[in-house]
Amino acid sequence: MAAYDTETISFVHHWDERVFSFRTTRKSSLRFEAGQFVMIGLNVDGKPLMRAYSIASPPYADYLEFLSIKVENGPLTSRLQHIKIGDEILMSQKPVGTLVLRDLKPAKRLWMLATGTGLAPFMSLVLEPETYERFDQIILLHGVRKISELAYYDFLSTDIKNHEYLGEIISQKLIYHPLVTREEFKNQGRIPDGLDSGAITTALGIDPLNKDTDRAMICGSVDMLSDLCDLLDRHGFTASPKSGVAGDYVFERAFVPS
Ligand code: FAD
Repeated sequence: MAAYDTETISFVHHWDERVFSFRTTRKSSLRFEAGQFVMIGLNVDGKPLMRAYSIASPPYADYLEFLSIKVENGPLTSRLQHIKIGDEILMSQKPVGTLVLRDLKPAKRLWMLATGTGLAPFMSLVLEPETYERFDQIILLHGVRKISELAYYDFLSTDIKNHEYLGEIISQKLIYHPLVTREEFKNQGRIPDGLDSGAITTALGIDPLNKDTDRAMICGSVDMLSDLCDLLDRHGFTASPKSGVAGDYVFERAFVPS
């Protein structure tokens, strides 16, 4: 059986009835690249109940942060949503994943395309200095159903620009564009539709999607992923075929559908 480390919950924040964030302690031996995920879980009936979770904090932070869904009757999240400061959780010791900067060919712009809790790996990547070393412009699109599901909205809109070390470069290079599908909001609609029609690039006043200048990272629902991979393929982008081989885009499922 896999061996798991134990970490302690140090912070919990509920964004709404469907989404919450939490922080844990971090062993100094745990190393990861921005964009990777670990297995986390709880002991249930004497056995570890583990699920994949993208790490939402940057590699240099001395804590680990996660953004979680609350699935009604979900084996893990029906329990995990009740965690409190001081509780313990289990964690795998080897972060993995395909959503890493090293698997993208050099280019000018980087699109970070997320739905729901698929935002989590990008919260780590927007605080990773290498992101800004490799790209001139980073466009983060976050699509959700309801406004309350726009986790980290204030941070991404404002606070991140005051980041102690990266604030200046982030102010120059990062564009954050949240979208909502089921409520009225300043930006509405699905990311694949907005990119396909050109509505998003027009609204942002930037050049259309272009495989010669752009790279993309995608993390979201199965439907969103398949629509966006189709769209990028139609525009001539090539996916990284496997870990260690760079492509024009990389993707990760935000969850496995039932
Ligand atoms: P499960 O039995 O695992 O799932 C029940 C059903 O709920 C699923 O079949 C699906 O229809 C739905 N569902 C599960 N997860 C989500 C979700 N995140 N958003 C919308 N619907 C969902 N979950 C996170 O909340 N945050 C993460 O950072 C995260 N990272 C992941 C990274 C990878 C590579 C993968 C494969 C999954 C990730 N997940 C993430 C999903 C996570 O592993 C669990 O599925 C989730 O925590 C629910 O667990 P559960 O046991 O309560 O329900």
